[in-house]
Amino acid sequence: MSAMITMGADGTLHVPDDPVIPFIQGDGTGIDIWPAARSVLDAAAARHGRTIAWKEVLAGQRAYDETGDWLPQETVAAFREHLIGIKGPLTTPVGGGIRSLNVALRQVLDLYVCLRPVRWFQGVPSPVKHPEKVDMVIFRENTEDIYAGLEVEQGTPEAKRLIELLLDEMGWKIRPDSGVGIKPVSVTGSKRLVRAAIAYAVERGRRSVTLVHKGNIMKYTEGAFRNWGYELTREEFADVAVGWDDCGGDPGDRVLVKDAIADITLQQVLTRPDDFDVIATTNLNGDYLSDAVAAQVGGIGIAPGGNINYVTGHGIFEATHGTAPKYAGQDKVNPGSVLLSGVLMFEHLGWTDAAADIVRALEATIAERIVTYDFARLMDDATEVKCSEFAAAIVDRL
Ligand code: NAP
Repeated sequence: MSAMITMGADGTLHVPDDPVIPFIQGDGTGIDIWPAARSVLDAAAARHGRTIAWKEVLAGQRAYDETGDWLPQETVAAFREHLIGIKGPLTTPVGGGIRSLNVALRQVLDLYVCLRPVRWFQGVPSPVKHPEKVDMVIFRENTEDIYAGLEVEQGTPEAKRLIELLLDEMGWKIRPDSGVGIKPVSVTGSKRLVRAAIAYAVERGRRSVTLVHKGNIMKYTEGAFRNWGYELTREEFADVAVGWDDCGGDPGDRVLVKDAIADITLQQVLTRPDDFDVIATTNLNGDYLSDAVAAQVGGIGIAPGGNINYVTGHGIFEATHGTAPKYAGQDKVNPGSVLLSGVLMFEHLGWTDAAADIVRALEATIAERIVTYDFARLMDDATEVKCSEFAAAIVDRL
């Protein structure tokens, strides 16, 4: 007996205690990290009277080998039907029709927010002096900007036509031997992203939302993103949030919405991390920023991510690293990224008690210096354990 997660008319998820959740194990090290992470997720859920009916679906190399299709329709249909899912890393096909399976999944389900919380867990080796000051939640726009894939290749008839058109119609002189890409940033795409970020900040009692942009150079895309963010704050959140210019930097008990240029931000997240709380940004900025900030708190081995459409209720949570093929099947790598993606999924489902248990148990395990190879090589006196042993140690400490 198991039940479906549904989206209520009130715009919130209705989550039974025994939901069906589709998962993609993932290629390469997916075979190691997924079973490890799942054992922890199941144990934590059970402690609170919940049971997940995992439903395996295929994508990536394994899907291709077994079905001849990199992203089978049944997989997309399962995520569509069950709303929430989780996935391990996928091999990106080289050549062929699909640019990236991850991008394809995001586009098909219109998962417009890439959610990347970045915080330090007690004991995790870090290259900075005060990793505990890092506690940011990045909302990266997931559907537009240069990721829209609107590019023409240098030397092709398409490139020649576009370059001529831009000269004739706009008077823009572009070198004839150029490749050309288009960067769309819309009111719709920007406002729904910023809306999700502010709503999150308000719900979770966060202090601020920083709109990160490169509007000093790209006025009508990046600069507009910033302006629309402030506009939305006034239009929809006036009672709970306020823009910097509308309050002189003193928001009272409301969430402060401010902005920062992307290049300065990349410096300041390092020098003044506690100035940043929730961040809302365009696609490419968000890509750089997520990985740069993640590096401060222990790197990609444990960074979680989620791709969410807050309107339809669809969400796919995922390991943010790749398949690390050289370690596949060795029961060696860190399951932290996919496990913490599961924690993020639990929080999204409202299972905050089970999520908090896992975080506590993970910290207790690392505090006892029981870690996988990636942390062991950065720590003194660590006990290096296998992927599955690390998960078992976390379960013991739940
Ligand atoms: P990668 O798989 O992320 O591996 C790069 C390095 O990151 C590894 O060699 C390892 O470092 C470290 N690493 C990755 N996962 C780890 C884990 N769980 N625990 C500890 N360390 C970990 O990147 P890649 O080699 O560039 O890409 C391999 C394949 O993955 C490609 O097909 C790529 O397209 C795909 N990919 C998929 C996704 C996704 O599905 N989300 C994302 C990125 C890449 P050390 O060598 O230092 O130990």
